[in-house]
Amino acid sequence: MPWNDKFECMPVEKLNKLQIKYLKETVAWVCERVPFYRQRFEKIGITAADIKHTEDIAKLPFTVKNDLRDNYPFGLCAVPMEEVCRIHASSGTTGKPITGPYTIEDLNQWSECMARNFWAAGIRKEDIFQNAYGYGLFTGGLGFHQGANKIGCAVVPTSSGLTERQIMLMKDFGTTALGSTPSYALTIAEQAESMKIDVRKLPLRVGVFGAEPWTVAMRKEIEERLGIKAMEAFGLTELSGPGIAFDCEAQDGLHINEDHFLAEIVDPATLEPLPLGEQGELVLTSLQRRAMPMLRYRTKDITRLRREKCACGRTLIKMNKISGRSDDMLIISGVNVFPSQIESLLLDIEEVEPQYMLIVRKKGYLDHLIVKVESKKEIYDAGPQKRTEIENKIKGHIKSTMGVGVEVNLLEPKLLTRSEGKAKRVIDERPKN
Ligand code: ADP
Ligand code: ZN
Repeated sequence: MPWNDKFECMPVEKLNKLQIKYLKETVAWVCERVPFYRQRFEKIGITAADIKHTEDIAKLPFTVKNDLRDNYPFGLCAVPMEEVCRIHASSGTTGKPITGPYTIEDLNQWSECMARNFWAAGIRKEDIFQNAYGYGLFTGGLGFHQGANKIGCAVVPTSSGLTERQIMLMKDFGTTALGSTPSYALTIAEQAESMKIDVRKLPLRVGVFGAEPWTVAMRKEIEERLGIKAMEAFGLTELSGPGIAFDCEAQDGLHINEDHFLAEIVDPATLEPLPLGEQGELVLTSLQRRAMPMLRYRTKDITRLRREKCACGRTLIKMNKISGRSDDMLIISGVNVFPSQIESLLLDIEEVEPQYMLIVRKKGYLDHLIVKVESKKEIYDAGPQKRTEIENKIKGHIKSTMGVGVEVNLLEPKLLTRSEGKAKRVIDERPKN
């Protein structure tokens, strides 16, 4: 049984009607309160009355990250500050961060979405949830915290980092559920191994991982190394944070909280809506948010949607695991390559650790990809001949599956910096023009 079967198992037609109702309300809400939207809508002559079907959403303009930056910090806020009760911001590695204001009702809805995520992962009141997402401006920490509170389990707010202490607390408190980025879960696994603690023998049984792309192969690796079920959470600051979509027990695509978010897939080049089932860029519209609603926000995340009967009984549409962000896509000798594809292939090779780094350089007119991956200790110790053999094996595996030639450097174990939050796995050294 889902957390909220009224909405999670709502017949699709009814859900659709609800979405239209909320969409009209949201359009009217922002037109009335946010000059940015009002001006845009007046320019194209659209009002809430023009929305009759969910497809009519295609009449509305897209919103992009730069719109949020241009209106930094509160230009897109639709309520007076006295009604705002929390402000988050995304990391904003380049330029200004983007802000996420919430009313108290926005926070309650966010908690509801996260509670569905926790519940679907099998987490209950009796669980002890160690929250190793970073607390602070990042929506991961508090987003997971609130959702856990709603379920009523015991939250251990460790935040990310101090990995040895995480493991000590995990052992002493008898933590049963963990939340972190997938890359940090791996860091924890590795640290425990070096402390000679077998996490598989601890009470830990489930993790809820998200905030960065990870492959099915990586999920299996984490499940094996920690001896747990690895479930997933998806979200972004612009649309409130984690809890937009979540894994169910089928672990076969993430259910989108469709009573809160309307999802579309568009061709990232032409921006034309794509038919259901096709892969493209995920575009999200918030349906119930009040402080900062988002209309047709281009996430840059690449996935596809599936409307199908799920074994769990939920009717909410499913999205495939994100294969990457359109701006992380590399074009290597004319072939589109997502870092996640390389990750998947590296995890097929038993002689290496799941710790890698991709470096892109220009070689003449062509892009050149260097894959740096840590080897298992015994391989590294076996000497240069063995290392070359494994490098060639990896090169061959990538060439035969993806058709691209890459350079492979096998690294000494533990050489790469370990992630505590979102892993940085691609270094683009091509000149910017
Ligand atoms: P920032 O944009 O600064 O990284 P966010 O925390 O808002 O800040 O990041 C949201 C992005 O994180 C998403 O657009 C997506 O690219 C990525 N993300 C979040 N959850 C997942 C997930 N489960 N799988 C893949 N990518 C994810
Ligand atoms: Zn399901």
